[in-house]
Parts: sequence; structure tokens; C-alpha cells
Amino acid sequence: MVFTMALEEYKRKRKFEQTPEPPPKLEPKTGHRFVVQKHDATRLHYDFRLEMEGVLKSWAVPKGPSLDPADKRLAMHVEDHPVSYFDFEGTIPEDNYGAGTVMVWDVGTWQPLSPVPVDGKYVRGTDAEATAMLAKGDLKFRLDGKKLKGDFALVKMKGHRPGSKGNEWLLIKKHDDHEIEGYDIDAYDGSVLTNRSLDEIAGHAGSEWTSSRPASRGKLKAAWLADAVAKLDKKNSAKKAKPAVKKKLKS
Ligand code: MN
Repeated sequence: MVFTMALEEYKRKRKFEQTPEPPPKLEPKTGHRFVVQKHDATRLHYDFRLEMEGVLKSWAVPKGPSLDPADKRLAMHVEDHPVSYFDFEGTIPEDNYGAGTVMVWDVGTWQPLSPVPVDGKYVRGTDAEATAMLAKGDLKFRLDGKKLKGDFALVKMKGHRPGSKGNEWLLIKKHDDHEIEGYDIDAYDGSVLTNRSLDEIAGHAGSEWTSSRPASRGKLKAAWLADAVAKLDKKNSAKKAKPAVKKKLKS
């Protein structure tokens, strides 16, 4: 397996014997795919990833992307992810980095746009231009996804704000035929791979675990152990706050 600097941070943050996420493998050949993953972690956010330079360049977008050019979405530049993360959907276990449920919200292809418009329109650029635009902090690109289409820019914010880590960018839709005024991301919810909601993905991953609980609880004779399990159940259901799972635990 090939490890490189590009994926060192990804590797350092994760315990691969515990998480179902893919290993930090650098791809020798770079395609032009993109993915947006809806991630129900400590704080719900969307991870926007562009396949570039053998990895997925990644930004965490708290409110998710928008097709309304009036929305300038905060996008925190985070560590590169391996390209095989492209179709990762599932649950990262508790006590692991990014613990929570991941949905593949959108997938598709992207292409770099030229840094400067020609006759007022952005035309196709080169990979070298994309690399230069990324380094400069003003990356223009066109998406052809199932949900996201059209021209966008990722623009790095000048780090003058107090407490800024210098990783704050803005994801902005450009004006074109694909823009939607008042875009509501929740109207486009669901996995593009499996059609599932976050709850369904979480429930599917945890269903065996929850259904086995009542049976094992019956064997708990020691009061202190039963008490500990009850506390853990309470903690887990409070943490997850998923009505469907709660119902299963009670029945
Ligand atoms: Mn994330």
C-alpha cells in the first residue's frame, strides 16, 4: 500500500481496525469525480469532495451546497481523503474520528473552468489551471451530478477573523441555467446510491445490535451490571435520538 504526505492526516486521525472507512491509498491516476456526503457527526454537515491529484480534496460545509447564487456557504478545508471514499456510506463507530452516519448525498463528475471568463462565460480549463486555482484559493469548476449541476467557485477567505484557522472557504454557485432561487437542500434529501435516509442508514447498520439487546438483558442477574447497561442504553438513545431505534429498544 502506498502512503503519501497527502493522506498522512487522514491516516493519523483514524483507527482502521475499527472504522469501516477505506484505507489511505493514493491513486496513481486522477479522474474527475465528485461526491457530497451528508455526515451526521457531532454537528450535521455535508462533506464536499473533488477528485484531484490522486486524492479527494475535501471541504466540510455546515449548511451544505446550494444552487442559489445568493447563498455563500461556509466550507472548512479539511484533510485529503482517499479516492475510494467516493462511495463510502455507512456508520463510523463511536469513539472514532467523525463518529456518526454518512450518506452519499450526490455524486457526479466535475471539470475545471478557466480562471478568467471568455466573453463573459466560463469555459473549460485544464488540470494544471485547477491546481493553480486551488493553491491561489479561487477554484472555479463545473459540476455534473445527480443533484448539483452548473458552475461553482470555492473561494478562500482572508484569515483576518479572530479565532480563524485559515481553513475557511466559501462555496458559491455562479449564475447559469442551473441556478435555483431559494434552494432548499432538505427538499433533495436521500442517498443517490441507495435511496436511503440518514435514519435508514443508521438503523440498518445498528439493527442487529439493537435487536439483540432485549435477549441479552434477560440474562443480567447482577443488579450493578443491569444498572450499567440501563445507563448505557440511556446514553446511546440520548446521543442518537433516533425515534425508530428507541421504539425498537422498548419492544
Ligand atoms: Mn465529515
